[in-house]
Amino acid sequence: MPVMSFDDVRKYRRCPRSYRLSVVSDDWRLSLHECLDLSLRRTIARADGRRVLGHQVGKEEAEAMFRDEWDDCVQDAFVGEGQDPSDFFRRGMRCVSQFIEFVRGSDGSELISFDVRGVQNLPYGRSVRIRVDEVYRRGDSAVVCRYVTDPSETFKPGPMDEHEALVSALWAVYSLPGIDRVVLQWRYLHTGEERECRVRKPSMDEAAESLSKEIGDIESDKEFFPKPSDLCGTCPHRALCPSYMSSVSSSVPDRREVDELVAQYADLDEKIVALSSRVEMLKSRRESVKEKIVAYSDSTRCDSVFGDGYVADIRRYKRAELPKDKSAVISRLKETRQYDSISMVNYSRLRSDIVRGIADPEIAKMATITEDVRVRVRRISRRFNGNPVAKKRKRISIG
Ligand code: SF4
Repeated sequence: MPVMSFDDVRKYRRCPRSYRLSVVSDDWRLSLHECLDLSLRRTIARADGRRVLGHQVGKEEAEAMFRDEWDDCVQDAFVGEGQDPSDFFRRGMRCVSQFIEFVRGSDGSELISFDVRGVQNLPYGRSVRIRVDEVYRRGDSAVVCRYVTDPSETFKPGPMDEHEALVSALWAVYSLPGIDRVVLQWRYLHTGEERECRVRKPSMDEAAESLSKEIGDIESDKEFFPKPSDLCGTCPHRALCPSYMSSVSSSVPDRREVDELVAQYADLDEKIVALSSRVEMLKSRRESVKEKIVAYSDSTRCDSVFGDGYVADIRRYKRAELPKDKSAVISRLKETRQYDSISMVNYSRLRSDIVRGIADPEIAKMATITEDVRVRVRRISRRFNGNPVAKKRKRISIG
């Protein structure tokens, strides 16, 4: 089993099956909470990287970093029931402003380390992966800082958060020479609150021991039973979870639920349209950025343009555009007997002909016909609302 992280242990506590699927499934997905957390931590790491070079990072610069990181992470995110990625993005932007408030006026000279990733050995020969956002020096103490990205304003660290902080403190004791004392610090990005506590070695050792036992229990689990809860609606692995799938297929909604389901369907439809237009917008933004990079490459006569952590390779190639009206091209292909080797089969037309029973019977025999259902929603006039008869005549078409 790979070395576990604290997020793995948290995931296991919420649902062992979800943890297992997150490790073994090929269809790896982040939840939107994880996506927000990851984008924010990467933004903080990038900003800290600039700060230690003596650069005071401003709000706009940090927001641009967050936008990049979000665009990158959200591609792997799973959007659960009732979730809207743009809500999470807005929350992230507020967190970024708060981060800038926390570090206002600091050029990072107090930072000893940031975005630390390491492995801490635990008792009984086990180990855990740790991630510390920032470590800075205050007199003879090391302050181990963790940014809290949880969106709920009432968030309070749970037992696993305490364990994580204490084991990170243990890492600081063993890894930072000349440190006598460790202070744990939590910075709440949603509220701007800051909490601190001084920790002693015995409590760090105690946390390491109990964490090691918990990891041992997880390692000996062979079943990974699903633990259904409210979180199933936003679980990225639910399509692979037998418990969730059986609960969905066995429940036929009643009349009251249908109102909500149709509204939900319409809402999802709108979100898909909004997302497609956002994709279009991002593509056009990317085009204009590409033009600038290519202009720079032309002016410097370099095919590789180096940026901060990335390199853009510029390769020129030729592309043939055919006329919109392709009849002349097709007849020429037929005349020269190239048509059979170059043209493509119109599979949509063929599928439709098979279903309508007008395709070649030998080909139809090779196809498997299955049933599917199409749902389209459209707005109904207010006067039909609450009138079941009218609703029936003007009902949402299914099929
Ligand atoms: S759908 Fe629910 S029960 Fe299934 S893996 Fe996800 S959280 Fe666990």
